[in-house]
Amino acid sequence: MAQGPALNPFAISQQQLDTAAKKLNLDPQVHALLREPMRTLEIHFPVRMDDGTVRSFTGFRVQYNDARGPTKGGIRFHPEETIDTVKALAAWMTWKCAVVDIPYGGGKGGVICNPKELSTGELERIARGYIRAIGRFIGPDKDVPAPDVYTTPQIMAWMMDEYSTIVGHNAPGVITGKPIALGGSLGRGDATARGVVYCIIEAAKELGINLKGATVAVQGYGNAGYYSAKLMKELAGSKVVAITDSRAGVYDANGIDPDAANDHKQKTGSVSGFKAQKAITNAEILELDVDILIPAAIESVITDKNAPKVKAKIIAEAANGPTTPEADAILYKNGKYLIPDFLCNSGGVTVSYFEWVQNIGGFYWTIDEVYDRLKEKMVKAFHDVHQMAKVNKVDNRIGAYMVSVARVAEAMQLRGWV
Ligand code: GLU
Repeated sequence: MAQGPALNPFAISQQQLDTAAKKLNLDPQVHALLREPMRTLEIHFPVRMDDGTVRSFTGFRVQYNDARGPTKGGIRFHPEETIDTVKALAAWMTWKCAVVDIPYGGGKGGVICNPKELSTGELERIARGYIRAIGRFIGPDKDVPAPDVYTTPQIMAWMMDEYSTIVGHNAPGVITGKPIALGGSLGRGDATARGVVYCIIEAAKELGINLKGATVAVQGYGNAGYYSAKLMKELAGSKVVAITDSRAGVYDANGIDPDAANDHKQKTGSVSGFKAQKAITNAEILELDVDILIPAAIESVITDKNAPKVKAKIIAEAANGPTTPEADAILYKNGKYLIPDFLCNSGGVTVSYFEWVQNIGGFYWTIDEVYDRLKEKMVKAFHDVHQMAKVNKVDNRIGAYMVSVARVAEAMQLRGWV
């Protein structure tokens, strides 16, 4: 899809990097290398459909930077996937793995397809076809994919099986987010949201906000959105007053039960229509008078148009790229505390890393070990960013970039690339 420069996610990611590079006084050679992905693969592969015809599907895999370790990042199955989105998301994975200090570079993949219109068999053949096409490009020590938008543990299982067939041995470490029975990690399911909530708890401490009874709005009710709502209630005692998904949503000042809303969505396909005081749109939810806003849906939803109307004190970006740079500046000026995406949602890849470590070691952890190690990583990453932003008087996104870019730059310099 054609996008103007203002909303092209890759242009946005480059703009954010440029701002951080300036603040860091980054070596121009390092900066030039970090502005573009190291490797970009575009593939077109055949898939036999249920009606007997063969369709050509287009896919991508971007390995943005591998100075700190194998590239890591999810695979999206999305009808409007573009190479620029994948490149931006691969860049954000690079910063995400660096901010939470796990030994990976960043990557991302995608297939242009609409899973809602595909049968299970077609979905499996797309998953396997994609892996056959990128098989030589990935591996446990090279590039390790994972789930992302519209991809599931079942899809990861097919992909792992296909890769294992290609290399001729069981290779669970090639992909993360697998079902537990195939080497998945306990705690991977709600890891992204758990990380989001750990960040919000730390932010609230810094701001002196009491989270018990604090109001929460969640835009997007997929994995990250649903579990963020659930864990804000369970771990922080907060009150979820509004939720939406791609169709629309609901508002209830007395609080919404996250599990009951999820059951409704599983049955009807949407949270809209769930019993509550009133219906609410995806635009309205962003402007609600709540303490905490969690954008957990898609890119570029908070823009210069609606940023002045955002009332939440804390904006916790569970989604990747929900705020444009113009909106960032407005929110910062208005004293909003934004927890930027690649810090806020890094719990997912952190538990992916734990899964990979367990696969390589062949030794599996308890749920408490996963939670404790995740919390340690998230709390440390949060305070590294909070301090960096405070000391340099920049917003948290630029602070996060400064932490990450400095780490990636150090690895590049030590390898002798520059
Ligand atoms: N797709 C998730 C993300 O954007 C997880 C990536 C992973 O686990 O490798 O962080």
